Amino acid sequence: MIKNNRLSAEEYEKNFSDIHPPFDNETAAIVEANRCLFCYDAPCIKGCPTSIDIPKFIKQITTQNIKGSAHTIFVSNIFGAGCSKVCPVEKLCEGNCVYNLLEEKPIEIARLQRYSSEIAIANNWQMFERKPDNGKKVAIVGAGPAGLSCAHILSREGIAVTIFEKEEKAGGLMTYGIAAYKVTPEFCANEVDYITGIGGIHIEYEKSLGKDFTIGDLQKQYDAIFLGMGVGLARKLNIPGEELQGVEDAIRFIYQLRSNELASIAVGDRVAVIGMGMTAIDAATQAKRLGAKEVTMIYRRTQQEMPCTQHEMDIALLDGCEIIWLAAPKEIIGVAGKVTGLICSKMKLGDPDASGRRSPVDTGETFTLSVDMVIKAAGQMPFEDIVAQNNVQHNNGRIRIDNAGATNLQGVYAGGDAVNGGKEVVDAVQAGKDAAASIIQYLELA
Ligand code: SF4
Repeated sequence: MIKNNRLSAEEYEKNFSDIHPPFDNETAAIVEANRCLFCYDAPCIKGCPTSIDIPKFIKQITTQNIKGSAHTIFVSNIFGAGCSKVCPVEKLCEGNCVYNLLEEKPIEIARLQRYSSEIAIANNWQMFERKPDNGKKVAIVGAGPAGLSCAHILSREGIAVTIFEKEEKAGGLMTYGIAAYKVTPEFCANEVDYITGIGGIHIEYEKSLGKDFTIGDLQKQYDAIFLGMGVGLARKLNIPGEELQGVEDAIRFIYQLRSNELASIAVGDRVAVIGMGMTAIDAATQAKRLGAKEVTMIYRRTQQEMPCTQHEMDIALLDGCEIIWLAAPKEIIGVAGKVTGLICSKMKLGDPDASGRRSPVDTGETFTLSVDMVIKAAGQMPFEDIVAQNNVQHNNGRIRIDNAGATNLQGVYAGGDAVNGGKEVVDAVQAGKDAAASIIQYLELA
């Protein structure tokens, strides 16, 4: 049965408390920072899409220069605090740390990054000065990591930025699409306030491209435009039974969790989650933490090909989620309009596909899971209609850009998930930075 209010207030609080406890005192942070070898060719930096000078900010912690350390982080990544909580660091900076070669625990880079950046946000240390207003105006679509990182750099240059955001809060995926035990809504709100605290950034909430305005409207009023609106809801499964009550979109499920009281969120007794990406893991673990008795993740390939990291998978396993490899959803069955089961095809691996991963092939055999809720998390769909209606060139909805981040439309740039179809938050931050640099050149301010 799908129902809410399954747990006590204490259980909800315990299940959704911070999964990565911060350093609880300065000494602990300094001890960890002192383990760093301050490698001269620092492979950890190469593992960071925003190229944060990691040994430098760690060194600054050892000398108790927390403000300097936070500045080193924010100059490369203004979302450095959020990224320290949501980045899959085991495949980025920490995965590149030389300690791995010595078969020792890598430096806790994320935890150290969180240490400095959270102190800076808590104290509202604004470290960047806005140049005097230069009369240029830029519109940004989407107040997520790409849009806000772009906005911050443009504002530093003295450009007046207006962001059009379709939701009632800013932060994009950070605010609405990530498990609450990784980043709380309050943390996201504080981070957005900190970023916009530089001034010169105005956010128009609940304004959607395609509904409230067009790119043409923006071109008339602004000197340049950045499209950073991310991607939309989960990809359809296109199987019978998808319309049954109890079939849920992972993004919508996570969104509800983040914008409502936890006790009000309904979850099934037995839940199937389709997919093995980060969103699938976040949906599965949160379904379990909301009180679902059984959560089973279905993935059509094997562990070798899964998009999530081992660390993320371990979170799901520790929470008691089951994983069935080499299984693809074939049909959702129900009684009286409600989900009662999921028929899956057993798969085997065939030849590699265009992405280089071996393609799953249907063996013709099936099995049935008895479930009352199915959560779809097999990728998200770009805003193809909106992009096409605005005459932006695209590949199946993903906006096409050149090396400078420019679209086919004059003065219109794009980046982040709207271009790549959905990568990490830190990739979106870098895309926003890259686009800002191109826009500054385009406006002949560089
Ligand atoms: Fe420090 Fe590891 Fe980076 Fe070397 S690779 S500088 S030890 S964090």
